[in-house]
Amino acid sequence: MFEGSIPSTGPVPLPAPSRSPSAASEVCTDRRGDIRIRIRCRGADSYAKVSYPQQYGIYAEIETAAAVMRFNPGGEIVHLQGKGRDWPHPQEWIKRTIGDDWVYYSTGGYSGVVEAIGEYYLPNTPYPTNSLLGGRPFEHAAVVRLLESWPSLLAAAAARLMPQAPAAIRDFLARAGGCDPTVLRQRAEQLFSIIGGRVTVLPPDARHVDYDLVPVHISEGCLYKCRFCRVKTERPYRDKEWSEIERQIADLRRWFGPNSVNYNSLFLGEHDALAADPDLIIAAIARAREVLGLAGSAMAGGNVFLFGSVDSLLHAPPRLFAELERLPCSVYINIGLESADQETLDKLGKPLSAARVVEAFHRMQEINGNFNRIEMTANFVMDELAAGHIPAMLQLLRDGVPRNRPKGSIYLSPLRVGRPSRSLVMDFYRLKTLSRLPTFLYIIQRL
Ligand code: SF4
Repeated sequence: MFEGSIPSTGPVPLPAPSRSPSAASEVCTDRRGDIRIRIRCRGADSYAKVSYPQQYGIYAEIETAAAVMRFNPGGEIVHLQGKGRDWPHPQEWIKRTIGDDWVYYSTGGYSGVVEAIGEYYLPNTPYPTNSLLGGRPFEHAAVVRLLESWPSLLAAAAARLMPQAPAAIRDFLARAGGCDPTVLRQRAEQLFSIIGGRVTVLPPDARHVDYDLVPVHISEGCLYKCRFCRVKTERPYRDKEWSEIERQIADLRRWFGPNSVNYNSLFLGEHDALAADPDLIIAAIARAREVLGLAGSAMAGGNVFLFGSVDSLLHAPPRLFAELERLPCSVYINIGLESADQETLDKLGKPLSAARVVEAFHRMQEINGNFNRIEMTANFVMDELAAGHIPAMLQLLRDGVPRNRPKGSIYLSPLRVGRPSRSLVMDFYRLKTLSRLPTFLYIIQRL
């Protein structure tokens, strides 16, 4: 049992997040009829892999001659799409994350994006990442202009709409007007401070919910401090105290406020939550789901995402997986295997033996076979630092699995950053063809 036990009498009494999914949407247009606002719109209520723009959950929308702007229930902008002829593509848009990053969703010309990453849209981040695909949308004039001008577009639309808008729309416009870029940046900083720092990397499986998740850090640091890793923290690994986790969840509840209605998923941070005390893992999931009201989300279902490591996986007791399976949600655990070749592991500075990596891989297949709601996925580096890397990897992905399986995705991660490469993409497709597990490129995204 972990230090600082969980109160047996239930959680700190916080009111349930307020939700109004039954309230009908309301529409208003300005006198000239060329600016329209709709509040309490309902987007899709389950995440789907579709090749057209999809808005999820509850949102408000303002459409002008220049752009479509969408906002969460708290009035924060979350979606921008230009309407001018110079907008890069009519089916592409920009999404703002809770970490206040704008991510450009591109079709990638629809050429092999879904085969490469498992999604129809390619996320282009404004910070350097390891993506092998994509262009430079944040250098496109129309994108730059819209990112700079949306606050004035919003202010102009509000001025035109206010005189004839009903009270609920006037309230919303006032709320949105209060969420300017400075306020949004401060909100993101508050979020980082609640969880103890920015989430520098999200598990690749978070793609299944378009990276819409509530981060709860139940531990910090990681076990290995690998030399090659750019996202590690230097802090030694530790489980957080239960009191810290409880406080964090209560603060997150306040931070998300009315926006929690759109979330059904948790990310348990930081880099190796699977190494935490099993009781702590289960208790944190239950408490966060309850306090944040995730079971009553506008989004159907529920998910938990976390990272694990070779050692945390091999040390995890079987009862942990049995308890995770009983949760009313799907659980995705992503393990950084990196390589099954000793020379490559040594060059990466990952303090592990290849034999332990192989053992962990087989344990993952066992868990994937025994549990319906748990999916263990793994990362390997793509670069051939030593001649044995690809053969050792294929020995697992092809010879280590008796037949093709739809579960247990493998994510290949290039070490290079900011250098898209068609030839490496072709190498990836060759490996994907040989693998008996679903195999994708891992595009590292932060929160
Ligand atoms: S790869 Fe994982 S275990 Fe290694 S340093 Fe990075 S976060 Fe830590």
